[in-house]
Amino acid sequence: MHNDLATVLIDDARLQQRVRELGAQIAADYAETGDLLMVGVLKGCAMFMMDLARCIDLPLAMDFIAISSYGQSTESSGVVRLLKDLDTDIAGRHVLIVEDIIDSGLTLAYLRSQLDRRNPASLRICTLLNKPERRDPEVSISVDYLGFDIPNAFVVGYGLDYAERYRNLPYIGVLKPEIYSGH
Ligand code: 5GP
Repeated sequence: MHNDLATVLIDDARLQQRVRELGAQIAADYAETGDLLMVGVLKGCAMFMMDLARCIDLPLAMDFIAISSYGQSTESSGVVRLLKDLDTDIAGRHVLIVEDIIDSGLTLAYLRSQLDRRNPASLRICTLLNKPERRDPEVSISVDYLGFDIPNAFVVGYGLDYAERYRNLPYIGVLKPEIYSGH
Protein backbone atom coordinates (compact mmCIF):
# COMPACT_ATOMS: atom_id res chain seq x y z
CA MET A 1 0.00 0.00 0.00
CA HIS A 2 2.72 2.49 1.01
CA ASN A 3 4.60 1.73 -2.21
CA ASP A 4 1.72 3.16 -4.27
CA LEU A 5 2.54 6.66 -2.98
CA ALA A 6 4.89 9.13 -4.63
CA THR A 7 5.24 11.38 -1.56
CA VAL A 8 3.96 11.92 1.95
CA LEU A 9 2.48 15.41 2.04
CA ILE A 10 1.40 15.65 5.70
CA ASP A 11 2.64 13.12 8.22
CA ASP A 12 0.75 11.75 11.22
CA ALA A 13 2.36 14.10 13.77
CA ARG A 14 1.49 17.24 11.76
CA LEU A 15 -2.07 16.01 11.22
CA GLN A 16 -2.62 15.35 14.92
CA GLN A 17 -1.05 18.66 15.95
CA ARG A 18 -3.29 20.63 13.55
CA VAL A 19 -6.40 18.68 14.60
CA ARG A 20 -5.68 19.57 18.25
CA GLU A 21 -5.35 23.26 17.31
CA LEU A 22 -8.61 23.22 15.35
CA GLY A 23 -10.39 21.43 18.19
CA ALA A 24 -9.27 24.05 20.69
CA GLN A 25 -10.33 26.89 18.38
CA ILE A 26 -13.77 25.33 17.76
CA ALA A 27 -14.28 24.67 21.48
CA ALA A 28 -13.49 28.32 22.25
CA ASP A 29 -15.82 29.59 19.51
CA TYR A 30 -18.79 27.38 20.45
CA ALA A 31 -18.46 27.59 24.23
CA GLU A 32 -21.00 30.43 24.38
CA THR A 33 -23.64 28.89 22.08
CA GLY A 34 -24.22 25.85 24.30
CA ASP A 35 -24.86 23.81 21.14
CA LEU A 36 -22.70 22.20 18.49
CA LEU A 37 -23.88 19.73 15.87
CA MET A 38 -21.01 18.34 13.80
CA VAL A 39 -22.19 17.19 10.38
CA GLY A 40 -19.65 14.92 8.72
CA VAL A 41 -19.64 14.40 4.98
CA LEU A 42 -19.14 10.66 4.43
CA LYS A 43 -16.96 8.81 3.91
CA GLY A 44 -13.86 10.94 3.61
CA CYS A 45 -14.51 12.85 6.85
CA ALA A 46 -14.42 9.73 9.04
CA MET A 47 -10.89 9.82 10.49
CA PHE A 48 -10.78 13.61 10.72
CA MET A 49 -14.20 13.90 12.35
CA MET A 50 -13.46 11.29 15.01
CA ASP A 51 -10.08 12.80 15.89
CA LEU A 52 -11.46 16.34 15.81
CA ALA A 53 -14.46 15.50 18.02
CA ARG A 54 -12.09 14.08 20.63
CA CYS A 55 -10.23 17.40 20.65
CA ILE A 56 -13.37 19.53 21.22
CA ASP A 57 -13.91 19.75 24.95
CA LEU A 58 -17.63 20.61 24.83
CA PRO A 59 -20.92 18.68 24.77
CA LEU A 60 -21.68 18.07 21.09
CA ALA A 61 -23.77 15.96 18.74
CA MET A 62 -22.74 14.25 15.51
CA ASP A 63 -24.62 13.39 12.38
CA PHE A 64 -23.57 12.35 8.89
CA ILE A 65 -24.58 13.07 5.33
CA ALA A 66 -23.44 11.28 2.19
CA ILE A 67 -23.03 12.90 -1.19
CA SER A 68 -22.08 11.32 -4.48
CA SER A 69 -18.34 11.52 -5.11
CA TYR A 70 -16.19 10.94 -8.15
CA GLY A 71 -16.72 7.18 -8.19
CA GLN A 72 -13.53 5.67 -9.50
CA SER A 73 -12.31 8.80 -11.25
CA THR A 74 -10.02 11.50 -9.85
CA GLU A 75 -11.90 14.39 -11.53
CA SER A 76 -15.11 16.02 -10.35
CA SER A 77 -18.08 15.40 -12.61
CA GLY A 78 -19.71 18.55 -11.26
CA VAL A 79 -22.83 16.47 -10.65
CA VAL A 80 -23.70 16.29 -6.96
CA ARG A 81 -26.32 13.94 -5.51
CA LEU A 82 -27.54 13.40 -1.94
CA LEU A 83 -27.06 9.71 -1.07
CA LYS A 84 -27.88 9.80 2.65
CA ASP A 85 -29.64 12.62 4.47
CA LEU A 86 -29.21 13.68 8.10
CA ASP A 87 -31.20 12.01 10.88
CA THR A 88 -31.36 15.32 12.76
CA ASP A 89 -33.65 18.30 12.28
CA ILE A 90 -31.11 21.13 12.14
CA ALA A 91 -33.56 24.05 12.47
CA GLY A 92 -32.27 26.35 15.21
CA ARG A 93 -29.08 24.29 15.69
CA HIS A 94 -25.47 25.46 15.49
CA VAL A 95 -24.16 23.31 12.65
CA LEU A 96 -20.54 22.71 11.71
CA ILE A 97 -20.00 20.90 8.40
CA VAL A 98 -16.88 18.70 8.57
CA GLU A 99 -15.31 17.93 5.18
CA ASP A 100 -12.17 16.10 4.18
CA ILE A 101 -11.20 18.28 1.21
CA ILE A 102 -12.46 21.16 -0.90
CA ASP A 103 -11.43 20.95 -4.52
CA SER A 104 -13.70 22.74 -7.05
CA GLY A 105 -16.03 23.65 -4.16
CA LEU A 106 -19.10 22.30 -5.99
CA THR A 107 -19.89 19.65 -3.39
CA LEU A 108 -19.77 22.06 -0.50
CA ALA A 109 -21.68 24.80 -2.33
CA TYR A 110 -24.48 22.29 -2.93
CA LEU A 111 -24.43 21.02 0.64
CA ARG A 112 -24.35 24.49 2.14
CA SER A 113 -27.37 25.61 0.11
CA GLN A 114 -29.29 22.44 1.08
CA LEU A 115 -28.59 22.89 4.79
CA ASP A 116 -29.13 26.66 4.76
CA ARG A 117 -32.72 26.10 3.65
CA ARG A 118 -33.41 24.16 6.83
CA ASN A 119 -32.85 27.29 8.96
CA PRO A 120 -29.96 26.37 11.25
CA ALA A 121 -29.06 28.99 13.90
CA SER A 122 -25.59 29.06 12.34
CA LEU A 123 -23.76 27.14 9.63
CA ARG A 124 -19.98 26.98 9.48
CA ILE A 125 -17.51 24.96 7.47
CA CYS A 126 -14.49 23.02 8.68
CA THR A 127 -12.27 21.25 6.17
CA LEU A 128 -9.05 19.38 6.73
CA LEU A 129 -7.66 20.13 3.27
CA ASN A 130 -8.21 22.83 0.68
CA LYS A 131 -6.92 23.13 -2.88
CA PRO A 132 -7.26 26.88 -3.55
CA GLU A 133 -5.91 26.62 -7.11
CA ARG A 134 -8.71 24.30 -8.10
CA ARG A 135 -11.68 26.39 -7.01
CA ASP A 136 -14.38 26.81 -9.63
CA PRO A 137 -14.51 30.58 -10.34
CA GLU A 138 -18.31 30.47 -10.11
CA VAL A 139 -18.21 29.06 -6.59
CA SER A 140 -17.56 31.15 -3.51
CA ILE A 141 -16.91 29.22 -0.31
CA SER A 142 -15.79 30.78 2.92
CA VAL A 143 -14.02 28.25 5.10
CA ASP A 144 -14.25 28.93 8.83
CA TYR A 145 -11.78 26.27 9.99
CA LEU A 146 -9.01 24.99 7.73
CA GLY A 147 -6.40 22.33 8.38
CA PHE A 148 -4.04 22.77 5.44
CA ASP A 149 -3.92 24.40 2.02
CA ILE A 150 -2.39 21.88 -0.39
CA PRO A 151 -1.17 22.03 -3.98
CA ASN A 152 -3.13 20.67 -6.89
CA ALA A 153 -2.49 16.92 -6.61
CA PHE A 154 -4.73 13.92 -6.01
CA VAL A 155 -4.20 12.92 -2.39
CA VAL A 156 -5.18 9.87 -0.34
CA GLY A 157 -5.00 8.72 3.27
CA TYR A 158 -6.50 9.74 6.62
CA GLY A 159 -10.01 9.04 5.28
CA LEU A 160 -9.42 10.00 1.65
CA ASP A 161 -9.64 7.19 -0.88
CA TYR A 162 -8.88 6.24 -4.39
CA ALA A 163 -11.46 3.65 -5.53
CA GLU A 164 -12.25 3.01 -1.81
CA ARG A 165 -8.65 2.18 -0.92
CA TYR A 166 -5.99 4.01 1.12
CA ARG A 167 -8.46 5.54 3.63
CA ASN A 168 -6.64 3.79 6.46
CA LEU A 169 -3.24 5.37 5.82
CA PRO A 170 -2.36 7.45 8.91
CA TYR A 171 -0.91 10.27 6.76
CA ILE A 172 -1.87 12.29 3.65
CA GLY A 173 0.09 11.32 0.56
CA VAL A 174 0.14 11.74 -3.19
CA LEU A 175 -0.51 8.63 -5.27
CA LYS A 176 1.88 7.70 -8.04
CA PRO A 177 0.18 8.75 -11.30
CA GLU A 178 0.52 5.25 -12.74
CA ILE A 179 -1.86 3.95 -10.05
CA TYR A 180 -4.83 5.85 -11.49
CA SER A 181 -3.71 6.61 -15.05
CA GLY A 182 -5.63 3.54 -16.26
CA HIS A 183 -8.97 5.26 -15.41
P1 5GP B 1 -15.30 19.31 -5.01
O1 5GP B 1 -16.77 19.23 -5.18
O2 5GP B 1 -14.86 20.38 -4.06
O3 5GP B 1 -14.60 19.41 -6.35
O4 5GP B 1 -14.82 17.92 -4.47
C1 5GP B 1 -14.94 17.56 -3.17
C2 5GP B 1 -14.88 16.06 -3.02
O5 5GP B 1 -14.06 15.45 -4.04
C3 5GP B 1 -14.23 15.69 -1.72
O6 5GP B 1 -15.18 15.58 -0.69
C4 5GP B 1 -13.57 14.37 -2.06
O7 5GP B 1 -14.49 13.32 -1.90
C5 5GP B 1 -13.22 14.47 -3.52
N1 5GP B 1 -11.83 14.91 -3.76
C6 5GP B 1 -11.39 16.10 -4.23
N2 5GP B 1 -10.05 16.14 -4.31
C7 5GP B 1 -9.61 14.95 -3.87
C8 5GP B 1 -8.31 14.38 -3.69
O8 5GP B 1 -7.24 14.96 -3.95
N3 5GP B 1 -8.28 13.11 -3.20
C9 5GP B 1 -9.40 12.40 -2.90
N4 5GP B 1 -9.23 11.16 -2.42
N5 5GP B 1 -10.64 12.91 -3.05
C10 5GP B 1 -10.75 14.17 -3.52
